[in-house]
Amino acid sequence: MEIKKIAVIGLGTLGAQIAVQAAAYGYPVRGYDRDPEIFRKTVEKVKGMMAALRKGPTVPREEWEKAVEKVTVAESLAEAVKGVDLVIEAVPEVLELKRKVFAEIDASAPREALIATNSSSIPVSRIEDATRRPEKCFNIHFYQPAVNFILCDIMGGTKTRPEFFDPVRKFIRSLDLIPLTVRKEILGFCFNSIWRAVKKQALYMWGNGFVDLKDIDRAWMSFTGMPQGPFAMMDMVGLDVVYDIEMSYYNDSKDPKDMPPAALREKIDRKELGIKTGKGFYTYPGPEWAKPNFLKGED
Ligand code: NAD
Repeated sequence: MEIKKIAVIGLGTLGAQIAVQAAAYGYPVRGYDRDPEIFRKTVEKVKGMMAALRKGPTVPREEWEKAVEKVTVAESLAEAVKGVDLVIEAVPEVLELKRKVFAEIDASAPREALIATNSSSIPVSRIEDATRRPEKCFNIHFYQPAVNFILCDIMGGTKTRPEFFDPVRKFIRSLDLIPLTVRKEILGFCFNSIWRAVKKQALYMWGNGFVDLKDIDRAWMSFTGMPQGPFAMMDMVGLDVVYDIEMSYYNDSKDPKDMPPAALREKIDRKELGIKTGKGFYTYPGPEWAKPNFLKGED
């Protein structure tokens, strides 16, 4: 099996970036979102993110811009998935919604097509039985390729056929991304579960007033040499998306330690969602973490 044509369902922050990444590497891509305007709006937000982070995609910027024009936004999900080899679902992190969308994809996509969820926390084993092809279902978890986060977690469900892993890995490598294969199901997959441990502790320390979030970011940046700390990264992901992901872990464990802090919910209620609304943990453009003396502890 070879992946030659793809469809992306949900063209928000991640779906739009996945669609453009695939188009930039020569794949015919069709996308569908229930909001027909969102693809263009998201592309503009992603450009803002590239500027704020001073990071670009894996291809030269002009090629990325040309790839935006190559993505076809379909009028229906059925039209988007017609004749493709792989469908990637990138709708919000809500299990029942993902199951509904997987069932719709299954009803319209070619029988041979693989179906993947870009979920950040839900194993595909909880979605696969919404389809009649569990042997072709995957988690393919992209990070944000437009701002050069080039990792990609890959995990199968309970019935995923082993021979489909190679074409998926080949597809991911062909996008200049690094495939990270999970051998045994785990919440959060490969690197995303490491990032989740850092994020959970950072939120706990900030949400309970132990330290100023800027000191956590400084420490992380200094220790790892990364250009942003966990709070700046969460601004990039979107605080609403972070909240849904944390709730998904909480709903799984019912452990109060997994509950995201109330202060995060309050930020979301005030529409402080991160870079996409101009304010999250920092304000944009010109966030404090990007200032020259930030690491020296000068706020
Ligand atoms: P988002 O809210 O930016 O985009 C979701 C899109 O799905 C919206 O445009 C919405 O209109 C659309 N949608 C909702 N219901 C739909 C339906 N029934 N049919 C078609 N479209 C529908 O969210 P996002 O940040 O792109 O996250 C999407 C998925 O990717 C989530 O599972 C999230 O956990 C995962 N993810 C996000 C990030 C990140 O950094 N934001 C990183 C990796 C993975």
